[in-house]
Amino acid sequence: MTAPGVRSSGQTALAELPSASVEVLVAGAGPAGAAAAGRLADAGLDVLLVDRARFPRTKVCGEGLGHDARHHLERLGLWDGIAAAGHVLPAARALAPTGRSVAVPGPFVTLPRADLDARLARWAVGRGAVFVRAGVRTVDDAGRSVSVVLAEGRRERIVRARWLVLATGAAPGLGTGLGLVRGGPTAVALRGHLETQATLPDELLGLFARSLAPGYGWVFPLGGGRCNVGAVAWDAGVGRRGPPVSRRLARLSAHPAVRGLFDRGRLEARPRAAQVRSGLRGVLTPARGAVLGVGDAIAAALPLTNEGIGKALETGLIAAEAIVAVRGGDGDAAGLYCTRIERELAPVYRGFLAAERWAARPWLVGLAAWCVARSPRLAEGLARIVTEAHDPREVFSVRAVLDGVLRR
Ligand SMILES: Cc1cc2nc3c(=O)[nH]c(=O)nc-3n(C[C@H](O)[C@H](O)[C@H](O)COP(=O)(O)OP(=O)(O)OC[C@H]3O[C@@H](n4cnc5c(N)ncnc54)[C@H](O)[C@@H]3O)c2cc1C
Repeated sequence: MTAPGVRSSGQTALAELPSASVEVLVAGAGPAGAAAAGRLADAGLDVLLVDRARFPRTKVCGEGLGHDARHHLERLGLWDGIAAAGHVLPAARALAPTGRSVAVPGPFVTLPRADLDARLARWAVGRGAVFVRAGVRTVDDAGRSVSVVLAEGRRERIVRARWLVLATGAAPGLGTGLGLVRGGPTAVALRGHLETQATLPDELLGLFARSLAPGYGWVFPLGGGRCNVGAVAWDAGVGRRGPPVSRRLARLSAHPAVRGLFDRGRLEARPRAAQVRSGLRGVLTPARGAVLGVGDAIAAALPLTNEGIGKALETGLIAAEAIVAVRGGDGDAAGLYCTRIERELAPVYRGFLAAERWAARPWLVGLAAWCVARSPRLAEGLARIVTEAHDPREVFSVRAVLDGVLRR
C-alpha cells in the first residue's frame, strides 16, 4: 500500500524482470543507489535497480536535508519539488551544555523519507533504470563482472552484471563479505515522531548536553505540529561510553529547552533504532574489481552531524561517473572511484572526524560555543562548515579557542 501523499516509485515485481544480464546492477534504492542508477541510465547504460523493501518505504532517519543534500538534489533537478513538498526552516541551531546557542543559516528542509526516497527512485526510473523489488542474496565477484542471486519471497533469479553498485545502507553483510568494510557501526541512533500541542521552533534543533554525551539529541520540525526527535550515541566511534541510546531519548525529553514539546505531545509509535557508519571508518576500500560501494555501505555519512543523505547522493553520482568514464573500454572504474573518494571526500571526513572527537566532550562544546559567540570570524566559519567551504577544525580546535580568547 502506498503511504498517504506518496506516489508510487515505479517498482515492479521480480517476476517481471526483463533480462538476466545487465551492464550495471544497483543494489539498494536509498539516496545513494537511486542517484547512481539515474545518472547511469541517463548516460545510456542498461541499469537494474533492486531493493528488498516494497516502496515507498520509510527509513530510520532525522529526515533533515542540509546544504550538502540540497546541493546534490539541485544537480538532479529535484530540489524545488522537494522543498515545495517538505517543511522549510530558515536555520539550524546547536545548543551547548552551557545553555549558549549558535545558529547556522539555512534553508533546511524536512521531508519524510518515504516521500524523499520514492521521489528519487521515481526519478531514476524516469531516466531509464528498471526498478525491481528483490533482495540481493549472494554475490559472486569474478573481478571483471558479478553474478548475483536476487530473491523476492521464494522466487529467485540469477543476474549477471559488468558492475555492481552496492548501496545497501549501514547494516553490515554484503559489504563485509565483499571485502569493502569491516567492524561494527560508528554510532547508534534512535528516532521517533512526536505530535505536540506546543509551539515548535522554526529551526532544526541539535542539543548537546552532559546527559546525551557522547553524541547529541535533535528536534526537527516536520510541520503540522509534528517533529522528528532522536538521539545519536557516538560511543563506538569516539571510544567513550555513555548511557544506552534508548535512555538518551528519555533524557532529551527532560531537557529544559524542549521538555514543553514532550509534555504537551505524544510519540506516534515506538521509536526505532538504526546503525550509523560515518567518516569512511571501517572501510577497507570503497571499491574493488567490479564492485563499487556507495553511501552508508561505505560509511559515507559525515561524522559530527551524522548527515548522510548528501554524501549518499554524492558518492552514488561519483560511482556512476567512474563507470560512465570507462564504459566500452578497458579502464578501471573501481580505481577511478577510489581515487576520487580519496581526493575529494577524505579531507572533508578528516575535518569532521576531528570535530566529532572534540564535540564528544560536553565541556569542549561549551568552550567552542563561547568562542563562537566572542569571535565574528569563528561565527562566520561555523556557517561555512555546513557548506563544506570550511574545515570544522577551524572552529573545533585549540587555535579556535585562542581566537575566541583574543576575540578575532
Ligand atoms: C536515526 C538516524 C537519523 C539520521 N538523520 C539524518 C538526517 O537528518 N539527515 C541526513 O542527511 N542523514 C541522516 N541520517 C543518515 C541517513 O539516514 C543515511 O546516511 C542515508 O539514508 C544513507 O543512504 P543510503 O542510500 O546509503 O542507504 P539507505 O537509505 O539505508 O538505503 C539502503 C537501501 O538498501 C536496501 N537494502 C539493504 N539490503 C539489501 C539487500 N540485501 N538487497 C536489496 N536491497 C537492500 C534497503 O531496503 C534500503 O532501501 C540519519 C541516520 C540515522 C540512523
